[in-house]
Amino acid sequence: LITTQTHEELYNVLKSNKQAVREGRVDNVKTVVVSIAPQSRASIAAMYKLSPLQVARRLTHFFRSLGVDYVFDTSFSRDFSLLESAREFVQRYRGFQERQRQKLSLNDDKSKGLDDPSLPMLASSCPGWICYAEKTHGSVLPYISQTKSPQQIMGSIVKDYFAKKIGVTPNNIYHVGIMMCYDKKLEASRSDFFDEKYQTRDVDCVITTVEVVKMFGEQNYDIKESPELPLHSLTKTTQEGQLLGSAGSASGGFLEFILEYSARELFGMTGIDVDGEKGVVVKTGRNKDFKETTLEVEGKPLLKFASAYGFRSIQNIIRKMKGGNIQYHYVEVMACPSGCINGGGQLRPDGTVPIKDWIAKVNDVYRSVDSSSPEQNETVQNLYR
Ligand code: SF4
Repeated sequence: LITTQTHEELYNVLKSNKQAVREGRVDNVKTVVVSIAPQSRASIAAMYKLSPLQVARRLTHFFRSLGVDYVFDTSFSRDFSLLESAREFVQRYRGFQERQRQKLSLNDDKSKGLDDPSLPMLASSCPGWICYAEKTHGSVLPYISQTKSPQQIMGSIVKDYFAKKIGVTPNNIYHVGIMMCYDKKLEASRSDFFDEKYQTRDVDCVITTVEVVKMFGEQNYDIKESPELPLHSLTKTTQEGQLLGSAGSASGGFLEFILEYSARELFGMTGIDVDGEKGVVVKTGRNKDFKETTLEVEGKPLLKFASAYGFRSIQNIIRKMKGGNIQYHYVEVMACPSGCINGGGQLRPDGTVPIKDWIAKVNDVYRSVDSSSPEQNETVQNLYR
């Protein structure tokens, strides 16, 4: 199922489309859709000193001028992924509590009726971490969340909901993801995300942020001087799409939302703000990529979460799990130190800017886009309906 997964492949699809139009073979023309991750957008904005909205509109112009039909932002599929992950966590937590109340083991027949009783729940959106777990630590797989990553949720929406909306079959859409890492290419190529009926993938090709900038050079395109085009909207084809931010940091961001959501759903606690450290206790160890966040009431811990970034932190978590002494309910596991903002496919500054300062800058750009809670995202609510 692995394709070349490069921007050359996108060029070839656009070339075949043009040829098919010239020869009057309209049935052979594919609708080309590009979905841009907010981390990639932030990386380009920081590098060229533009705002995220300018980057989104200029990339729309750039890809449209190459022959792409629709350019979307993946912030809202990220909101979907956050909401589904939070719901999955609450369900698992309740199952886990019930099993403990009844003193049932996981293998007990009575456990079977309880939803997903395995805790801690481990994050599922980083393919670097997933591949590592699958190859070397099969015993932790039941603990990994079953929610798809934002990239793959976007893939499902584009090839199902959007395909129906514009009246084409999934195989007549060529869907490209602009992403912050090379491992997202592997994720898109997984057989889990291949539609046997239509012989097509949810995401056909992934291009990294670095490769997009390479395309600028190949196309003699200057993003600093580029015209802008209105953003596309997945749900309202007649209206300009809105650029929305997403809850949490650009590194992973799932922990913050899941904790705030669970505090409300499980304990009726509102006003929790993980970022502002309101209602929670945050402890960062000597290794800044390992952080514990605890929801406490009068010094009594109710929920204990951790974020583990980079392989050193991942190995630490695996060791704890194998030793049976893990005390966390949820762990946000990401393979890159500092998480996705520092992904292998992101732009790097010249040697004069320390990497730590650069990451902080890209994160600031990412956070500069207004965001509301995923539960208030109107597009997400419309799609649920
Ligand atoms: Fe990719 Fe790194 Fe993010 Fe994992 S943490 S999804 S490997 S950028």
